[in-house]
Amino acid sequence: MIRKLLRRVFRVATAPAGIAPAVIPVARHGIHREHISAGARRTCEALQQAGHRAYVVGGAVRDLIAGIVPKDFDIATDATPDQVRALFRRARIIGRRFQIVHVMQGAETLEVSTFRAAHDADTQKDEHGRVLRDNVWGSQADDAARRDFTINALFYDPASETVLDYHHGVADLKQKTLRIIGEPRARYREDPVRMLRAIRLSAKLGLTIDPEAKAPIRDMAALMENVPAARVFDEMLKLLFSGHAVECVKRLRDEGLHHGLLPLLDVILEQPLGEKFVMLALASTDSRIRAGKPTSPGFLFATLLWNEVLANWEARIKRGEVRMPALFEAMDEVLDQQSEKLAITRRISGDVKDIWALQPRFEKRSGKSALRLLEQPRLRAGYDFLLLRAQSGEVPMELAEWWTNFQNAEGEARMAMLLPETGTKKRRRKRAPGGKSRDGGAVEPAA
Ligand code: ATP
Ligand code: MG
Repeated sequence: MIRKLLRRVFRVATAPAGIAPAVIPVARHGIHREHISAGARRTCEALQQAGHRAYVVGGAVRDLIAGIVPKDFDIATDATPDQVRALFRRARIIGRRFQIVHVMQGAETLEVSTFRAAHDADTQKDEHGRVLRDNVWGSQADDAARRDFTINALFYDPASETVLDYHHGVADLKQKTLRIIGEPRARYREDPVRMLRAIRLSAKLGLTIDPEAKAPIRDMAALMENVPAARVFDEMLKLLFSGHAVECVKRLRDEGLHHGLLPLLDVILEQPLGEKFVMLALASTDSRIRAGKPTSPGFLFATLLWNEVLANWEARIKRGEVRMPALFEAMDEVLDQQSEKLAITRRISGDVKDIWALQPRFEKRSGKSALRLLEQPRLRAGYDFLLLRAQSGEVPMELAEWWTNFQNAEGEARMAMLLPETGTKKRRRKRAPGGKSRDGGAVEPAA
């Protein structure tokens, strides 16, 4: 009985320090020195020349083995942050809970972190078991064991071109399995964000989440509530801009992880119109990212929250509020509600509001107001947003097409497209909410 308990405890406690890693040769992992950025190579070399150990670690090694170009290179070393900083001309220590060193090499910034020890009884945690402070140095084996998934615990040495693999990560990656290191429930309790990471990484790399790691997510999803809003927001940005957002959201839903975590997804995904709109927006972001085109968080959050705004706006109009002020009130209320869970920065929420506020203006296809809209600096984003609304069936496609043609038309031809200005005001006042204006635009939010 006790032995069984001990065995369970030690399985949880990860690979003990001093355990030898598998040394994987280049023939098996395929990463050549040249695949590593110049800055990462120089940083490892400088650390190694000073007598330290230094490796490229984590996502970059994983992505290279999977045939994906890494977006950045992280370094792990046995040198302390002070030792690292002393070795480089342009380096500074950042972070408190988790101290790392930013080393600048040309235009590149490398994150260099010191091997960290496994957590023990002395680790500072909050009342739910979430780790609060994390600056106890350890061995490389300790450092591997505290990483989240086996495929993320790989260390690449550019000097020998070998990968040190403590947890069968290379085999898991080749077998397309996402496996958590240690006991899944304990690891999720320590840091609930790992559940989100499991979803994101499995979608990005096309992996199956190992059943043991997958099973507890549904039960434990509520733990996300204890994670600070800023951290959830960072992780959500990574997820939404991973180039695999559609797949991620699908998997989040399958695991019941979208509830509470993303209040906006809760509501939206449950109404057909909302779902279609959001999925179109995510698909368009995915394809832009995969094509290397720029994307903006403001645009995406505007799409995710639009149906909430519509519902709120509609309720206000029903209560007799005046149309445009009601829209602005609805926008503020929806953004305020979100801010409890998602720390949407002020700059992003400014962009979001700009896009929303433009929408009713697209209904006016006459005279000065249409011409003035063409001069709006945010016209492009507002128009792209209108296109999505049309594609999802919320407004007539004809309205979006009119704006496409109006923007492309020049001189006389453009002026000829304008609808007559007279009488629209009167008619608008008479329309019921959800009705269509004479010029085809949706006026008030659909019921
Ligand atoms: P990507 O950069 O592609 O989004 P990544 O795995 O590199 O994915 P980062 O946030 O850059 O993600 O983390 C770097 C490494 O740090 C990971 O590969 C993993 O080893 C470790 N790590 C990150 N977050 C956690 C976590 N919550 N728990 C344990 N280890 C983590
Ligand atoms: Mg990374």
